[in-house]
Amino acid sequence: MEKLLNEISHEGLSGYSVPEIDVPHENIEKYIHKEALRSSEPELPQVSEPELRRHFTRLSHRNYSLTTHFYPLGSCTMKYNPPVNDKLSQLPGFADLHPYQDEESLQGLLELLYGLERSLCEITGMDAFTLQPAAGAHGEFTGLLIIHAYFKAKGEARTKIIVPDSAHGTNPASAALAGFEIIPVKSKADGCLDLELIEKTLNKDIAAIMLTVPNTLGVFEKEILKISEIAHKNGSLLYYDGANLNAILGNARPGDFGFDIMHVNPHKTFSTPHGGGGPGSGPVGVKKHLEEFLPVPKIEKKEFGYKLHYNIPKSIGRVRSFFGNVPVLIKAYAYILALGAEGLRNVSEQAVLNANYLLSILKKELPAPAGDRCMHEFVLSAKPCAEKGVRALDIAKRLLDYGYYAPTIYFPLIVEEAMMVEPTETESKDELDKFASVFAKILKEAADNPATVKNTPTTTPVSRLNEVEAARKPILKWADAPK
Ligand SMILES: *Cc1c(COP(=O)(O)O)cnc(C)c1O
Repeated sequence: MEKLLNEISHEGLSGYSVPEIDVPHENIEKYIHKEALRSSEPELPQVSEPELRRHFTRLSHRNYSLTTHFYPLGSCTMKYNPPVNDKLSQLPGFADLHPYQDEESLQGLLELLYGLERSLCEITGMDAFTLQPAAGAHGEFTGLLIIHAYFKAKGEARTKIIVPDSAHGTNPASAALAGFEIIPVKSKADGCLDLELIEKTLNKDIAAIMLTVPNTLGVFEKEILKISEIAHKNGSLLYYDGANLNAILGNARPGDFGFDIMHVNPHKTFSTPHGGGGPGSGPVGVKKHLEEFLPVPKIEKKEFGYKLHYNIPKSIGRVRSFFGNVPVLIKAYAYILALGAEGLRNVSEQAVLNANYLLSILKKELPAPAGDRCMHEFVLSAKPCAEKGVRALDIAKRLLDYGYYAPTIYFPLIVEEAMMVEPTETESKDELDKFASVFAKILKEAADNPATVKNTPTTTPVSRLNEVEAARKPILKWADAPK
């Protein structure tokens, strides 16, 4: 157990030395309001520089990250992110900009953002993009506001959004937040949409269908063209949740298979380190008929440079201060330019190959309800183990003991004891083989002696947490911690 700094503190130790002051001492108390003065010394730890540095370095090594571990967290695209992209986003020419500078002095950044918008249009088959939204879910929310504005301008009162039960949880949440009513529809056993059911559910109240393709089972929607046709015939729009664009990057474009509006997650597909809540970005792309509703400001290319355009009457307005999460956008653009068209195509091909390779091994261990083929990720069901007392949660915790981050579990909800595995393109065959053999070993442990899997993890700083209690009654003060 790593001790707290307060516990290794020794009176008089410090990690710094400053020169003696060479001006007269002055008592600062007389300048501070009485109530603001503290009555006792603060309990600051007193430690030496090496102690301090070792403490934080040891703590940093407890992080699971792409620089230390394989991270097969399904739906999150935890690919290895080249640090050169971070370096570029921190160049002084970007990092030292102030968002209130006038646009004549921001031309370099505006050119970059404009270039990124054009690249995303090319990659997705959309006509225009906004880079403002700060995360995928924020992109969905922005997209839904655009859908709302579109029907309002047409004088149609459409209040409902169809969201299949295979959708990412943020989809219904964003639609509800934007004021829509959610109409859930069941998927078929293979995770794909039930065309007849969709046809029956469509009516003049339906503003849009929100789809994730490939869906959360990692399966490409085979009848997407047909779905697009019936949705549009009904006057409804088709929303594409492009958070998992890693599956089709460079090979297929949502704009070509009928989608009107979509978001992408640069922090997943375009390589920004993410996790723990940020940083992210959620650019939204639209077809021509929705362009006039995009947020302001819009970057426009003029003969002599770039201008920020604020006066767009039908725009939904601002969704974020300034220009979005600019460092994330710079990293995404650097990644896109470094890989080029051929490289981006390789990304999705390798991601899909890796997922299928791992699936081909692991399906011998656990059932794969969506079948023998997948796109960039796949879902296993730990139901056979659960029936003998070892649940998906237990397998996930045991993986931590073997130095692996766990797959996403209990999602999607339509698979019992779901374990969703996304290896990404940046893992080698060796790493996938090692992971598969550890997975098989854990299932053998589960069969031979369930207790070895159930009482885990045993090698992490804390073992199995009471997650409900931890969320409801977190211990936030050292003084309150059990000693
Ligand atoms: C990650 C994800 C989201 C949400 O993106 P955030 O950036 O976490 O808000 C939405 N849909 C799908 C399919 C995702 O995988």
